[in-house]
Amino acid sequence: MSIELGCALLVLFPAACFWATTSKTRWLPWAVLAAILAWGWLGWTSLPAGSQGLWLSAVGCSACGVLYAAYGAGKSLQERGRLRSRLEERGRVRVALSQTVATLKARSSRLEGEERELQALYAMVKGLSEALSWEEARPRVESAVRQYLGTEEFALYVSDLRCPESLYPLVVRRLGGSVGASWDTLSRTLQEQHVSLGAGEILEVPERAVVIPIRDSSEMMGCLYARVPAGADPQALARKAAGLMEEIAFAFRRVKLFQEMERLSRVDGLTGVYRRGVLDARLAEEIVRAGTFKTSLCFMLLDVDHFKSLNDAYGHPFGDQVLRRVGEILRASVYETDFVARYGGEEFAILLPRAEPAGVLRKAEAIRAALEREIFQLALQTVRVTASIGIAHYPRDASTAEAIVQRADQALYYAKENGRNRVVDILQVPRGRHSNKGNPL
Ligand code: GH3
Ligand code: MG
Ligand code: MG
Repeated sequence: MSIELGCALLVLFPAACFWATTSKTRWLPWAVLAAILAWGWLGWTSLPAGSQGLWLSAVGCSACGVLYAAYGAGKSLQERGRLRSRLEERGRVRVALSQTVATLKARSSRLEGEERELQALYAMVKGLSEALSWEEARPRVESAVRQYLGTEEFALYVSDLRCPESLYPLVVRRLGGSVGASWDTLSRTLQEQHVSLGAGEILEVPERAVVIPIRDSSEMMGCLYARVPAGADPQALARKAAGLMEEIAFAFRRVKLFQEMERLSRVDGLTGVYRRGVLDARLAEEIVRAGTFKTSLCFMLLDVDHFKSLNDAYGHPFGDQVLRRVGEILRASVYETDFVARYGGEEFAILLPRAEPAGVLRKAEAIRAALEREIFQLALQTVRVTASIGIAHYPRDASTAEAIVQRADQALYYAKENGRNRVVDILQVPRGRHSNKGNPL
């Protein structure tokens, strides 16, 4: 081996050492060290004695280079490791930060949703606190249910004077073909499934829906039926709906009280039929309607016969009891569209829109007969009463409200004059007798 070739190879050792240190194989640096020692030894033994000093210093330099390369490579490895762990640390922080941002975003959108719902609820409660009728309450309740519960398919039933036996449908929205579209079908379904509406129920059959009652103490004031939207949690919907119905209950109570107050102001306390003032307004309305649509109406006046003697003989409270029963019989004898009122003392008026004279005569006769049949009990005594009825028709007999009342009154007067306990149509009164001067009523 020549000294030049040996030295040239010695230069490669530091580079090899650098590469070996930075590679992942742990024994490689030791192999390079062993190789330089072996190469040094080989040179030492094979070179002439004159070159050995030079060789030794070349090997020494190469060994120093190897050590320096190992040191440098080690440092660089350390630095890379440090950078890598810093990068990893930053990556972890970035992931944690983006998770926190995502959580905050979700929370903020949930809070925004809750705020929107609360605003809808607040607007509804505020609006409802001003509502005095179902008509005023309806749009506010409807939009509150849509916005607060997030459902478009629902019905809200309320107990109302218009529907005493059942619940009245205040809102029915997009429930075609559903059991919730009518209270009768819904209550039948609940019965069939033996569901008693405690605080509220979730129906699964025939469709997934929540049914929440609206209560005033123990009385059921209404009921909400809402289809559960696809993907919604029925339990959560039922909880929210129950909360909403509690808010709604107070407003419904007010509407009902107001309705009741209004009804009481329109209805005669003793007999349960409408008051005279309400009759006057209704008669005027019906005459305008009949005039506009070219239809007819009948006005009937009924007066209890010899009522003064009845009071005198059995006392005023008994007279009141008779009037109460007369009111009941009259209400039971007419259609929903007919209108019964107490005209004064022991006189009653019945307004029958679009009624034909022959049918009216039959009805009046049935009322007269029903009163005649009625037995009033006072201690051990049985008392019977009779009544006389006068009938007039619009537009046949008169064209104004005052005139029609007067014609019915004339017919009643004629009935009284001709023995009482009878029905008289004004047409049956002879022309010369169309006067009720000295009317004994
Ligand atoms: P007629 O057959 O001619 O109608 O005789 P009548 O006695 O029924 O008629 P009259 O008009 O003379 O008497 C009506 C009586 O009705 C007089 C009044 O004391 C009585 N009355 C009026 N309002 C009430 C009431 O609210 N309760 C009672 N118990 N009596 C009343
Ligand atoms: Mg009388
Ligand atoms: Mg009278």
